[in-house]
Amino acid sequence: RQSVRRFGTTALRASQEGSTLYNTRVSTVQGVVNGLTEAIGNTPLIRLKKLSEQTGCNVLGKAEFQNPGGSVKDRAALFVVKDAEEKGLLHPGGTVVEGTAGNTGIGLAHVCRSKGYKLVIYMPNTQSQGKIDLLRLLGAEVYPVPAVAFDNPQNYNHQAKRHAEALDNAVWTNQFDNIANRLAHIETTGPELWAQTGGKIDAFTCSTGTGGTLAGITRYLKTASDGRVKCFLADPPGSVLHSYIQSGGKLIDRTGSSITEGIGQGRVTENLKPDIDLLDGSLTISDEKSIEMVYRCLDEEGLYLGASSALNVVAAKEVAEKMGKGNTVVTILCDGAYRYADRLFSNTWLESKNLRSAIPKHLEKYIVL
Ligand code: PMP
Repeated sequence: RQSVRRFGTTALRASQEGSTLYNTRVSTVQGVVNGLTEAIGNTPLIRLKKLSEQTGCNVLGKAEFQNPGGSVKDRAALFVVKDAEEKGLLHPGGTVVEGTAGNTGIGLAHVCRSKGYKLVIYMPNTQSQGKIDLLRLLGAEVYPVPAVAFDNPQNYNHQAKRHAEALDNAVWTNQFDNIANRLAHIETTGPELWAQTGGKIDAFTCSTGTGGTLAGITRYLKTASDGRVKCFLADPPGSVLHSYIQSGGKLIDRTGSSITEGIGQGRVTENLKPDIDLLDGSLTISDEKSIEMVYRCLDEEGLYLGASSALNVVAAKEVAEKMGKGNTVVTILCDGAYRYADRLFSNTWLESKNLRSAIPKHLEKYIVL
């Protein structure tokens, strides 16, 4: 990978203008990268200007929506494929199989096309036709299967595993429990955050699906800062991890649900296991707060974000308020609102989820669908 270069004149100008850490981005540019896989990562770190003003902190969001597949999951997709190659499980012309309905499938589709592998995706048949169509047009073979619980052998994850086992030169990438997922964030996202801030991070918070992002970044930041950076899980309703952390390790049954796609978890995955004890605490964020922040980020920051990103921003704001003025709080902007626009900005959908009243009057103009 080409290293990021700083061009002297712009950097000099920035320093003459009394620059602080957040306006050096204008002076960085990346050289040529060799193919799509090298275009994954090195995303900008955006200072959320209004929220930073309001909290008296630096609230920073890692722009993961700028990855080629449009989400933070491109990093994990690349690392699970590289891991399978390095372990000799995947050779040229081979097949990658995964159970996913979301961003991991899209990331894998890009990575597999770029590297010449076939991709097979199993997903619950409750998913939208749009998701199936997108994966198919990105070259994946897609099997929508009955939406049954994890302990049923027909669950999409088990079907994905069996499909890979029945083929030669095929691997089930198993994003939830394959720790190459968290390694992506230990080796790339964490170091990028550290370099982009010059180590000036006081707190980090984000939500989890597989846990790879939270665990990997927490591990890196705790190590790089000798434990100084405070790290917090941000959990949606219907996830058990907040209560797991608050109760000192008790797993309860899953109840409730959330509009935030891609996050919320019913168990401690292998990706979370090594690092969950490193966390300093956890927050739970309501759907009302998350949806309001989708609209606020659009209106105040010009950022078009999915609901998991908005939840992360709410969490960053709450952590900033708790820690007090002058702190730098970092979070992850996981993906954009593009795939969710027909819901997030639809009056009918908001009403169906009892979330219409969560949108303040001055932001109603964005409810256009
Ligand atoms: N946000 C979105 C939109 C996602 O698709 C995912 C992955 N399912 C996450 C957040 C959570 O990332 P991770 O799997 O690394 O916990």
